[in-house]
Amino acid sequence: MKRDYYEVLGVSKTAAIDEIKKAYRKLAMQYHPDQNPGDKAAEETFKEAAEAYSVLSDADKRRTYDQFGHAGLGGQGGGQGFQFDPGQFADFEDLLGGIFGSFFGGGGGGRRRNTWEERGSDLQYNLRLSFKDAVFGKEAFELTLPRLEGCEACQGSGCEKGHSPQTCPDCRGAGQAYMRQGPFQMAVPCPRCEGKGRIIPNPCKACRGEGRIERKAKVSFRIPAGVDRGVRVRLQGQGEAGRYGGRGGDLYIVFDVETDPLYERDGFDLHRRLDVAWPLLVLGGTLKLETLYGPDDVKLAPGTPADHVVKLVNAGVPRLQQGGRGDLYLHLRAEVPKKPSAEQRELIQRLLESMDGADTAATGPEEGFLSKVFGNGAKTGKKKRR
Ligand SMILES: [Zn+2]
Ligand SMILES: [Zn+2]
Repeated sequence: MKRDYYEVLGVSKTAAIDEIKKAYRKLAMQYHPDQNPGDKAAEETFKEAAEAYSVLSDADKRRTYDQFGHAGLGGQGGGQGFQFDPGQFADFEDLLGGIFGSFFGGGGGGRRRNTWEERGSDLQYNLRLSFKDAVFGKEAFELTLPRLEGCEACQGSGCEKGHSPQTCPDCRGAGQAYMRQGPFQMAVPCPRCEGKGRIIPNPCKACRGEGRIERKAKVSFRIPAGVDRGVRVRLQGQGEAGRYGGRGGDLYIVFDVETDPLYERDGFDLHRRLDVAWPLLVLGGTLKLETLYGPDDVKLAPGTPADHVVKLVNAGVPRLQQGGRGDLYLHLRAEVPKKPSAEQRELIQRLLESMDGADTAATGPEEGFLSKVFGNGAKTGKKKRR
């Protein structure tokens, strides 16, 4: 025995749409399967509320239900034909803190042909981030984009106030027309209703019966720390609105990241060139350095080679959704003074004289010499950097 939809939501028969929404939202929060894992009774209550809401929030379905009860809804959104349609709830995603996300996860493949409702299209937005925004992420990034949204004038029904869609008179709702071709009879989509079985005789003036209108939409979302070029985030239900009560499409954000003058990124590791005055390499000492995470000291041992690489563990990019960070590699380069002062000249001259045989080229065999000079594979040295 099916419970009365008004009773399910705990509202009166004359409740306004806002009241119905509020009542449903409250129940949805309380009985959502994510909040009550494994609780079958809660899930049933949740589904019952969702079904009641899907009917009472739709002016046409509500009218039919008021007149004929459960029986009146037959196969169209009530009774046994009830389809659990997340599109109805897309506008609550923000209010519910996205808890629907996991429950309705996946899906998308359930689009039936020739039905009245249409799922909204997915949208893709390419978002270019600064190097630092990509490294650190952003709690609430706001984006404005043009998007088809439900028409407010007709609440997405496409019908002028007081009217509703009607069964297509040409095909009597079957959505099919028949064509004779010689001995064969072929079924084709009904040209009048385009196979939908229903028509809108009095289309809404605001949306011309489309049920949707293009608007500039503000979308706010979190950019996780550590995203990189090509990483994609899916915002469920934030694409185009569905048609006539259909589910909203998804919005995909595809990231691009600006290059940085100081750092070069390799996955979650960072590489950076560091010029060091050569006497410091000879004598050793401490080098003060500003990293992405604040000041750090780099200790150089006496006799550090001029092309030494120092690795600062955990000073790289946060590992996206894995925890921890990559490392920072400092590629040292001996800084040779181009215009030494007279005093420096004299000191260096004395140093040179003290170094026996410094004016004779010391040659020795070294295996893999070229690849060492050009790094991993000499080809990267020739390629133009983007
Ligand atoms: Zn409209
Ligand atoms: Zn038709």
